[in-house]
Amino acid sequence: MCELLVGLPDVNVNGVGDWPHWLRIAITSRAERRRCPGCGGKVWLHGRAEVELVDLPCFGRPTRLVWSKQRCRCPNPTCGVITFVEHDERIAAVRAAITDRAGRWATFQVGNHGRAVSEVAKDLGCDWHTVMDAVVHHGRALIDDPKRIGITTAVGLDEVLFCRVGKFRHRAWSTQVVDVARGQLLDVVPGRDAAAGCAWFAARPVEWCEAIEWATLDLSGPYRAVFDTMIPHAVQIADPFHVVKLANHVLDECRRRVQNETLGHRGRKDDPLYRIRKLMTIAHERLDGDADAKLRGLLEAGDPRGEVRMAWHSKEVVRSIYEITDADLAAEFVTQLGIDLQDDSCPPEVQRFGRTITRWRHQIAAWHRARFTNGPTEAINNLVKRIKRVAFGISNWTNYRTRALLYAGHPNWSLLHPTPR
Ligand SMILES: [Zn+2]
Repeated sequence: MCELLVGLPDVNVNGVGDWPHWLRIAITSRAERRRCPGCGGKVWLHGRAEVELVDLPCFGRPTRLVWSKQRCRCPNPTCGVITFVEHDERIAAVRAAITDRAGRWATFQVGNHGRAVSEVAKDLGCDWHTVMDAVVHHGRALIDDPKRIGITTAVGLDEVLFCRVGKFRHRAWSTQVVDVARGQLLDVVPGRDAAAGCAWFAARPVEWCEAIEWATLDLSGPYRAVFDTMIPHAVQIADPFHVVKLANHVLDECRRRVQNETLGHRGRKDDPLYRIRKLMTIAHERLDGDADAKLRGLLEAGDPRGEVRMAWHSKEVVRSIYEITDADLAAEFVTQLGIDLQDDSCPPEVQRFGRTITRWRHQIAAWHRARFTNGPTEAINNLVKRIKRVAFGISNWTNYRTRALLYAGHPNWSLLHPTPR
């Protein structure tokens, strides 16, 4: 009955002890006397070595498995092996502090449920490092599983803050590679420059890269360079959210400059432009009559040369790009918009924005052909942020990558099942 409860293959349960912090289960292996790993001959028993392993909690209590291992000596004088200790991979790996099954359980808790490592360590009654090492060890096979990254038609790149480092809390960035067709995190690479992204694509099989038809990105030069060099055949799509965000940023810049020029100081709470700073970023059709009247009135009062009004108008026009249904019409519209915004009558911020639009016109208009966005990327961002929050920040790159990919990378969890008995 005890053996049934303990559930390990080929072991005798010799005793169960109630210790202050955990239950101790003493076992020995039932196997015959081993053969020498060097010469394959018969060996002499040379005493025993006790190994204590962290095991799965038993009936709500942390448990230790105490395995009294056979130590054997090879009598053959020509054999290089003198003594050795038995081991069984089904119970635990060589020199592991935790049993195989407990390690897999911990990996599932941390990787799939997104639990904190410290929490799982508390359940097991062991050290944080014991659990994290097991997660990295068992997680590697799941992450490196070649079937995890399937053929995809659309990928997206996005930058994510990894952690803050050093005395001055400098920000260390990472790049997320996401399958935007399926909403799966494919990988995370350190840094946000073109080199890191290129190296990742270079390591993929050629046919995988060739299958990609669409590539989404925010308006960032390095990611554009990655796509241009590594998957030049894919059509790049500028993410609508980032385009509109940039338009709002331009509007904000213009408002702050005009504010400073007309009143000689930064916005205060009674200044007309400062009072409408949030109203202006809201979509125009979502403003009710009062808000619209307030917006127009205060623009009149605070913007003598009509510059902020023009920036606001350009933002609204940029938003209207995404109401066009016809792809060719959209391409024409974006091209013309880029030219119009560079007109000398526009404020300098808007002219700069016009140049950006002209530079990215193909990517912006490409959205109308496939409608892939970086939305799935942002959704995955949220999952990764959850992992970081649960961990109160992660600064070790391997731990970060392992936990992010186990949680958001769609690993095949059936691979984690222990080997059949
Ligand atoms: Zn031998």
